[in-house]
Amino acid sequence: MLETVLRLITEIVGMPGVLVEEPMSRHTTFRIGGAADVIIEPPGEKQLAAVIKMLKRFKVPYFVMGNGSNLLVGDGGIRGAVIKISSTMSKCSVDENDDTIIHAESGVKLSKLANTALNNALTGFEFAAGIPGTLGGAVFMNAGAYGGEMKDVIKKVSFIDTEDCSIHTVPVQECDFGYRKSRFSDGGAIITGASIQLENGDMSEIRAKMDDLAERRRSKQPLDKPSAGSTFKRPEGYFAGTLIQDAGLKGYRIGGAEVSQKHAGFVINTGDATAKDVRELIDYVREDVKKKYGVELEPEVKFVGEF
Ligand SMILES: Cc1cc2nc3c(=O)[nH]c(=O)nc-3n(C[C@H](O)[C@H](O)[C@H](O)COP(=O)(O)OP(=O)(O)OC[C@H]3O[C@@H](n4cnc5c(N)ncnc54)[C@H](O)[C@@H]3O)c2cc1C
Repeated sequence: MLETVLRLITEIVGMPGVLVEEPMSRHTTFRIGGAADVIIEPPGEKQLAAVIKMLKRFKVPYFVMGNGSNLLVGDGGIRGAVIKISSTMSKCSVDENDDTIIHAESGVKLSKLANTALNNALTGFEFAAGIPGTLGGAVFMNAGAYGGEMKDVIKKVSFIDTEDCSIHTVPVQECDFGYRKSRFSDGGAIITGASIQLENGDMSEIRAKMDDLAERRRSKQPLDKPSAGSTFKRPEGYFAGTLIQDAGLKGYRIGGAEVSQKHAGFVINTGDATAKDVRELIDYVREDVKKKYGVELEPEVKFVGEF
């Protein structure tokens, strides 16, 4: 990338916020992915807007990520810039006037938000405690689990419109939330923060619910192996994991990628999987399930970069 752009961006975000030729395997839960030309971690909304302006001015392509828990990055890495909105933009606090509302920056982890809710005896966010993403990634995806979805708790969302770098806040009604999608899924916006609306509850009941859901996850999901969670979206009228299991694909391997023995809905990295292995395995599973059951499986995992 142009020296000049790098220098100008470093001036905006500071030295530690710029990682050059950085392996994406260090930034994804799959632990897979070649190097990004540069990863930029902005410390706040204003710096983020300034970085976008700069990248656009120099026509540098960019990709926005949170915790990388729903990404498969190609072995060839990512050309241009990756903007990582995570720990450097992760403040959250309870509203001063209404103690059932939490305001948060989009880089906050869902687990931290869930703990903030718990510590303030607020109920409604327990479902999200075990999803290993950021608030921004979860809003983008309308992440959900155990009967809850982000759309149930979001009050408003703030974002930068990347067309003109203007900053907006919209109420939940304008977020177009659907199954694993939102108005942000089509691109063109970077989520910078959100407010969530919860209810006063009982701290010990909230804790018990979080513990119960964590145990259900541990017993059903291969949490000890790198993955990006459920590989496929839920096809209407079916469960992806059941279809894959019934097709006899549990434990099926290509290279270091494997259909988890514990939960067939997860493709896992057994240690040395490449993005190519994972992609080939996903394609194989899709073809086999289509052939045997006539059902089209659509990946939930996002493919990014050069394969
Ligand atoms: C073990 C495991 C369990 C999981 N369980 C669940 C589950 O129960 N339910 C569920 O829904 N998901 C689950 N997931 C998937 C994943 O955690 C969610 O999709 C999560 O919402 C992704 O958040 P992220 O910050 O990691 O986003 P990333 O993976 O970094 O990005 C996902 C998408 O969001 C976009 N994005 C991220 N941040 C922003 C932003 N600030 N502005 C604009 N776009 C942005 C990215 O461009 C990308 O397209 C699981 C994953 C794992 C590894």
